[in-house]
Amino acid sequence: MLNKHKIYCDYNSTAPLLTEVRTAMMNLENTPLNPSSIHYYGRQAKFLIENAREAILQMLGVNTKTDQYRLVLTSSATEANNLIISNFLKHKIIISSVEHPSISKHTEYHNNMSILRVDNNGIVDLEHLEFLLQNQDSQNTLVSIILANNETGVIQPIKEISTIVHKYGALLHSDSVQGPTKTNCNIEDLDVDFMSISAHKFGGPLGAAALVYKSSTNLHAQIIGGGQERGLRSGTQNTHAIVGFGVAAQMCDIQNSAMRDLFELKIREICKDVIIFGENAQRIPNTSMVFMPNIPSNIQLIKFDINNIYVSTGAACSSGVTKPSQILLSMGIPHDIVNCSIRYSFGKDTTTEDITTISSVWKEIYTTQH
Ligand code: PLP
Repeated sequence: MLNKHKIYCDYNSTAPLLTEVRTAMMNLENTPLNPSSIHYYGRQAKFLIENAREAILQMLGVNTKTDQYRLVLTSSATEANNLIISNFLKHKIIISSVEHPSISKHTEYHNNMSILRVDNNGIVDLEHLEFLLQNQDSQNTLVSIILANNETGVIQPIKEISTIVHKYGALLHSDSVQGPTKTNCNIEDLDVDFMSISAHKFGGPLGAAALVYKSSTNLHAQIIGGGQERGLRSGTQNTHAIVGFGVAAQMCDIQNSAMRDLFELKIREICKDVIIFGENAQRIPNTSMVFMPNIPSNIQLIKFDINNIYVSTGAACSSGVTKPSQILLSMGIPHDIVNCSIRYSFGKDTTTEDITTISSVWKEIYTTQH
């Protein structure tokens, strides 16, 4: 639960657990739930997991009466993204230059990957996509494009991308981790073949995620063992977390942009030179990546932290060290601007009072240097 005196603006990193999710998980706290066991508890675990699986698919608009899409449960979206990439290593893979590291880092290890350009709003260049598809054996190609960027919130035109990708007989994966509660993630509307999502980004627990896939596709496992998840992901399922994932999916509701818009209005009143990245593109309603002139991101971050406001540069690596955002750099933003930028990501608990406090601290940090 969030402390009222602390202002959390890092929902894109992880969202607080929903009360209903916590209750559902705690109700099972002392139950041994291994779905591979044949006895009563095993059967109960299996039932709970299948219910959650159905709720997650329904959140993505899948008609569960048909078997068009299935989902494999994983420990994280990082694992789901690795699973899909690992399936196409013998083929061509096209990714955009604004992917999460769980996709983009693969370019350091494999030479079958091409990188798609983005414009200065971070939107993929569709002509470049056509060019790349025309120039290779696209029948065996995977295109992987993020649905909404975790740093800027910019939404990609996935439906248009899918039309192009399918025209060339290629397959489309979308890392849609920042989608649920923020934008339409209807997999049939978007017409993607594979989609990654992660429970902790929308009120579910850490440690539960999924790769959704068209059942007509033929995937192979990355983790080998007891054959759980139709043989696609061995290892005993994390039943408690999966139950929480299912409850979060049932509660998924798209938030509005009121708090983000108010914040952007207020900081513009303080400083006319502020830059809001991706402002002219379609963005998810909770995210604002902002340049504050002349104040390095880590200084801003520390000053906000001292004032009990928790933000992020959007590109912290696992050691917690801040690095310049590769996403902004690939949008053609100069280093000196990138190095003074901070991501604010709001959530359903963010209030008008929070925005007033954040804006006045923003003003304080800005005016100390000007
Ligand atoms: N993809 C995107 C767009 C993300 O924002 C994140 C998390 O920050 C991930 C993938 C990785 O998700 P997970 O924390 O479940 O590994």
